[in-house]
Amino acid sequence: MTNAEQTKFTKRLHSLIAELELAETNTSDNRAPVELDQTSVGRLSRMDAMQQQAMANATSQRRKANITMAKAALQRITDGEFGYCIECGDDIAEKRLNHNPAVTTCITCARGQ
Ligand SMILES: [Zn+2]
Repeated sequence: MTNAEQTKFTKRLHSLIAELELAETNTSDNRAPVELDQTSVGRLSRMDAMQQQAMANATSQRRKANITMAKAALQRITDGEFGYCIECGDDIAEKRLNHNPAVTTCITCARGQ
């Protein structure tokens, strides 16, 4: 992988992390514990509010996992290991990295072959 490509992926990963962290901050209210006070729930039933909170939490978990993966990819760039499959050591296809720079395996290993 050339330096230019590494720079490109570094930038993409940084903006991805910034985007995810911003989304995480902007949605923190949705994950606040459901208030016992019914008046604060408004027209939504408490059950609806709890379901929405559970969904917001699931989204948040996925987002945090993506942040972790993106940070790990940045570390691999620093270590000079970026772009290589962590399982078999082969090059990861550039198309695959372009689609998601945080992937850690080549398509063959991803398919479990
Ligand atoms: Zn592989």
